Amino acid sequence: MGSGYRIPLCAPEIHGHEWKYIKECLDAGWVSSAGTRVEQFEQMVAQYLGVRQAVATVNGTAALDVALRLAGVGRDDEVVVSALTFIAPANAVRYHEAWPVFIDAEPVYWQMDPQKLADFLRNGCLWKRGALWNLRTHRRVRAILPVHILGHPVDLRPVLELAKCFDLPVVEDATEALGVQYWKQAGTPDRSRESGWASVGTGGDIACFSFNGNKIITTGSGGMIVTRHKDWARKARYLTAQAKDDPVEFVHKEVGYNYRLTNIQAAMGCAQMEYLDKHISAKRRIAAAYNSAFKGVAGLVPMQEAPWARSTWWLYSMRVDEEEYGMNSRQLMCRLAKAGIQSRPLWQPMNQSPAHKGSRALACPVAGELNRTVLSLPCSVGLSASAQAEVIGQVLALARKA
Ligand SMILES: *Cc1c(COP(=O)(O)O)cnc(C)c1O
Repeated sequence: MGSGYRIPLCAPEIHGHEWKYIKECLDAGWVSSAGTRVEQFEQMVAQYLGVRQAVATVNGTAALDVALRLAGVGRDDEVVVSALTFIAPANAVRYHEAWPVFIDAEPVYWQMDPQKLADFLRNGCLWKRGALWNLRTHRRVRAILPVHILGHPVDLRPVLELAKCFDLPVVEDATEALGVQYWKQAGTPDRSRESGWASVGTGGDIACFSFNGNKIITTGSGGMIVTRHKDWARKARYLTAQAKDDPVEFVHKEVGYNYRLTNIQAAMGCAQMEYLDKHISAKRRIAAAYNSAFKGVAGLVPMQEAPWARSTWWLYSMRVDEEEYGMNSRQLMCRLAKAGIQSRPLWQPMNQSPAHKGSRALACPVAGELNRTVLSLPCSVGLSASAQAEVIGQVLALARKA
């Protein structure tokens, strides 16, 4: 798949309808954003999630950019963001000349820690003149941006409660979390029931998805904005298409963007959506096989699924304890690479990122620890049982007590 590895980390899965649907676009000449596929793809995603509005974008980062603008984020505002994430959401905050405030991960499921979020909002901020102000920077806190990482949800219930309490919009980065669900009501989660569970991206004010090459479904590059506010959806559609007020006379009342997805990409998305549930089943099967193989191996701690979560296990990852396993995550990565197997650590935490050194750094010890110890393993939808057995064999053979 061009990664240079015999067993790549997370390669796209193309089933065949993509060829047919894309060819139809080419044959009809509908290659840009006009045509029926964009709307169809939007409807497929909206229907899957159980929401009314979805607006396709060129990629997930563009979706985040627009979502923050719709949430009212502007110059010198602050946005509370997960520290342990791919850099895109933090960058999107800076596009608006606003500042991210990074919140540490919790150690069990590795997502934004709702308790640390609560602590910042309650003790690090002051409610004054109908708004929330950061006591240290004196900037206005304008939104909360939880990032659901690796196919597992953030514990959203407390986050949504805090948002309500402090009157802050929630912008969900669900780019790694299409199809992920969480238990949305009070009481004990019931896995045998369908009701009571909600899709990630439907509980906050606005959410962003991505269809980049390594995501659970792909359009090559693509994104989607989902919002429960009808006027935000209309505005998203308007802003992503250059804010055209009169398309004949070229009248624009606002500064928009050229962020629309093309019909060709959407055609691919329609084909991929037909397989989303199959992709999720494959990811879950792969995770189950890794989990049972690594059970009881000293020094390996796989990511976990919370009782209140239905994870897609989008990117299978595990903590590697150097003392117990016998080597650290980076050494294991190098040994696997020599065997043609691609693995990868998690991102440098945003509070350590040189690109965001101007931002407020709260202590993020858990994110730092996870960055040092976690390694993601090959988990392509199309990973064969024999390829997975080879990865498992290597990991077990390298363990201290092999
Ligand atoms: C992939 C990803 C994005 C960005 O999506 P693109 O479509 O690549 O722009 C944003 N946030 C996170 C956490 C991601 O993993």
